[in-house]
Amino acid sequence: ARQFFVGGNFKMNGTIQSIKEIVQRLNDAKVDPNTEIVISPPSLYLLVTREHLRPGIEVAAQNVFDKPNGAFTGEISVDQLKDSNITWTLLGHSERRVILQESDQFVASKTKFALDGGIGVILCVGETLEQREAGKTNEVVLSQLKAVADQVKDWSKIVVAYEPVWAIGTGKVATTEQAQAVHAAIREWLGKELGNDTAEKTRIIYGGSVSEKNCKELAKEKDIDGFLVGGASLKPAFVDIINAKQ
Ligand code: 13P
Repeated sequence: ARQFFVGGNFKMNGTIQSIKEIVQRLNDAKVDPNTEIVISPPSLYLLVTREHLRPGIEVAAQNVFDKPNGAFTGEISVDQLKDSNITWTLLGHSERRVILQESDQFVASKTKFALDGGIGVILCVGETLEQREAGKTNEVVLSQLKAVADQVKDWSKIVVAYEPVWAIGTGKVATTEQAQAVHAAIREWLGKELGNDTAEKTRIIYGGSVSEKNCKELAKEKDIDGFLVGGASLKPAFVDIINAKQ
């Protein structure tokens, strides 16, 4: 069975003070020992998060660059993450794909670089409302994944996060049927592209307006292996989402 995985993406939110409070709440919380938990603060706060967070909960960067070091103003490297005990990174979040115009190929290149350096990748994919309404959901999501599969064959340190763009920060969560259908399509595609073992083992988590109210229903679906939580990860409700399987 795949281990349930819950990530908290703080995006560009928080202060030293508020993040310490979130960390303290997680340190004190009764969380399901079977759930893998990773939180992702803004890069400026990665170190203070790692310093205060209890062992057993991991920290993710929200992005990383695909060069080892050098003249890349504003970027941070895989080695710098490792040096700081940061073991995961998000990549390909829709806010970066859409607002910062990151291409599928750039996301794939960064994914390869992070994995080669020993950092786990929460690889975000998802369609816009326009793409969904045009019937292109699977095509878009699978081509985002294909760009990565062209460069990366070992997916054992990738967690795929399916995040429909229209569900992010809108309060409009995908229905359990909508989410399950895309997760199943991703798993089927993984099987065809990378083999049944990869399809069986890869966690596919859902993101987009996940709350303490809708998480339990979503978690019952057979291909939903956890969540990537935005807004609610900043609140006490995050603990309920971590425990969605209980
Ligand atoms: P919300 O949970 O705020 O909708 O954000 C989801 C998300 O983008 C997580 O990466």
